[in-house]
Amino acid sequence: MARLGSWIKAHPEGIYVAPADAWIDPSQPKRHALITHGHSDHARGGHGAVLATPETLAIMECRYGPQPGGQSIAYDETIRVGEVDVRFVPAGHVLGSAQIVLEHKGERVVVSGDYKRRPDPTCACFVPVPCDIFITEATFGLPVFRHPETGSEIDRLLHRLHADPSRCVLVGAYALGKAQRIITELRERGHHDPIYFHGAIERLNQLYESFGVALGELRHTGSATKQEMAGHVVIAPPSALNDRWSRRLPDPVTAMASGWMRIRQRARQRNVELPLIISDHADWDELTMTIRELEPAEVWITHGREEALKHWCMTHQIKACELNLVGYEDEDE
Ligand SMILES: [Zn+2]
Ligand SMILES: [Zn+2]
Repeated sequence: MARLGSWIKAHPEGIYVAPADAWIDPSQPKRHALITHGHSDHARGGHGAVLATPETLAIMECRYGPQPGGQSIAYDETIRVGEVDVRFVPAGHVLGSAQIVLEHKGERVVVSGDYKRRPDPTCACFVPVPCDIFITEATFGLPVFRHPETGSEIDRLLHRLHADPSRCVLVGAYALGKAQRIITELRERGHHDPIYFHGAIERLNQLYESFGVALGELRHTGSATKQEMAGHVVIAPPSALNDRWSRRLPDPVTAMASGWMRIRQRARQRNVELPLIISDHADWDELTMTIRELEPAEVWITHGREEALKHWCMTHQIKACELNLVGYEDEDE
């Protein structure tokens, strides 16, 4: 009998699905690409035919211009690609993010892309699909990574904001996904004041709203005075936290929303005064809970801290291996 999943090949530049002649999230331009989600390490420009959810295609158009080879696939729709049945199901990571379910010759393989299990008001919840092989990320694949409740982190932000109305709280957040999630989480905690944003996230805010994610009243920092921004939340990409741009803000309390904020040293490196542990990736408990729930015969680990998760799988009688894909590390996540 052939080895399980022998029709799927892991190359450093992506996962190649041979009987479909298609690549998943390839880092180099390919003739056929299946894209899990819009983050730039997964969705690159320059491919021939691209199969992705409508939201992911819109994000790619926003970043790379028109996608003439783009074909959209709705969640749960099945499309035959070559000799493989392909289905996209929600991954709970960012708007439009998908796990890709591949079925071929009686075997089912799920490629998770990036995912998380906790609720996120900006995207559909992760759907568990039992499978023979689960191909998972492991960005936070160490037991030290346990993300707290999102609501308690948002409350810490609001507490700090209200403690000194002469200052603003500047939150560094990944432009795609995290920024819009922080805004909607603030709204869910009852914060309805205008939120200021850095110009770099404007188009993605608009894109989220065009897909029905309500963000409330937003204002561009470019047209506001220091006085107006005092006592308000300002959202900017992490790269803007320590640059000249932030001088226009009223004595900002610098915050950053990322799973890496669990590591004090990372917060210090970025001069972050208020680290918020809010991640769009599964933490250790979510990774292991997901594997327990799916009961796959094998787990293949794409990127992140593979060793500990591989060891955990082996102690739970699940075969596991590392794929050593390169270029998928999320520094700002
Ligand atoms: Zn991602
Ligand atoms: Zn990623």
